[in-house]
Amino acid sequence: MFDKIYKEKIENRILKDVMGLGEKAYIVGVYCAFTPKEIIASAGAIPVPLCAGNNKPIPEAEAHLPSNLCPLIKSSYGYAITDTCPYFHSTSFIVADATCDGKKKMFELLKKIKPIHVLSLPQTSETKESFNYWMLELFKLKNLLEEKTGNKITDESLSKQIKLYNNYRKALNSLFSLNKENIPLLYGREIDAITGAVTFDYNMEKRTQDIKLAISKVKERMNDFKFLENMKQKPRILLTGCPTTNKKVLDIIEDSGAVVVAMENCGGLKTINLVDENINPMKALAEKYLKIPCACMTPNTERLNLITNIINDYKIDAVVELIWHACHTYNIESYFVSEHVTNKHKKPYLKVVTDYMENDKEQIKTRVEAFLEILKFNFN
Ligand code: SF4
Ligand code: SF4
Repeated sequence: MFDKIYKEKIENRILKDVMGLGEKAYIVGVYCAFTPKEIIASAGAIPVPLCAGNNKPIPEAEAHLPSNLCPLIKSSYGYAITDTCPYFHSTSFIVADATCDGKKKMFELLKKIKPIHVLSLPQTSETKESFNYWMLELFKLKNLLEEKTGNKITDESLSKQIKLYNNYRKALNSLFSLNKENIPLLYGREIDAITGAVTFDYNMEKRTQDIKLAISKVKERMNDFKFLENMKQKPRILLTGCPTTNKKVLDIIEDSGAVVVAMENCGGLKTINLVDENINPMKALAEKYLKIPCACMTPNTERLNLITNIINDYKIDAVVELIWHACHTYNIESYFVSEHVTNKHKKPYLKVVTDYMENDKEQIKTRVEAFLEILKFNFN
């Protein structure tokens, strides 16, 4: 139901809308979940995520970047230098975050073609000092946006945006929660198609409405006995690890007969925590964003707590961890994730290290099928 056509239809509408804004809008590109979009929107600017999930622009990127770098970084950079991301083209400037080393250094190169403001993210979320430092970074961003747009960012404008983004996160949470039922209602690739299609929309109310519409359509499946009977047989997988910017592994898991009921990634369950609407808005934003359990943080114990909650709430049978080549942060952290999943939860765990190329598809498929075969024995 939520197939390619659905996704393309929404994406085309959004693309037309964003491009149609032309000179009237101040568009700010963002690359990472740590960027508080609410502050950008409060300045009357439009935050848009930038393209990063395709292998196509990578050969051009490798003319400047090392080939043994994470494909997400190479793809983002490739889209930018080949001018093939329409959103990048429309941006006035970019707000980036100093997360992993590869991204930080890539932004230095990207500065040659577009102004970039890099938020200096602390490496830990656990100390008062890091929180205070992050607050200062967000105030610097606020001042910069006021200067660039000529619009004052007030507590009122921030609170308004916080509410809009929270409503969107609540809708996302309701969508994801449809898979907490005894029989899941959505395939992971459908969740990806629905959320991926609306992410580029700058109109948060419309974005929330689109998610709510999808929820009501998915709920119709509760009366589709053939669908429910088929879903009932499938092992329930949690896909964790690096952002699922490319669907290769997700597709392989579901083509092999399982269903990815939950994704602990950016845009997924890692980032849908609400901003506190009852405290000072800048403080509330700093708290929410600094708590994102990304592997760039040290230590990152909250991620393990999140995985525990997902395993329990979504009745997970097994965990697959996706690692993009050369992503040292997630790859090293996978040691703890594997230990946590297998020792604490006694669930099977599979790590897949790959990139955006198609040439290892058969090999991954064989590993995933063998993994699911073992699960079948546990099932019966
Ligand atoms: S995984 Fe970490 S660095 Fe990557 S987009 Fe998410 S928050 Fe940013
Ligand atoms: S997947 Fe890993 S290496 Fe790639 S951008 Fe994200 S944190 Fe950095």
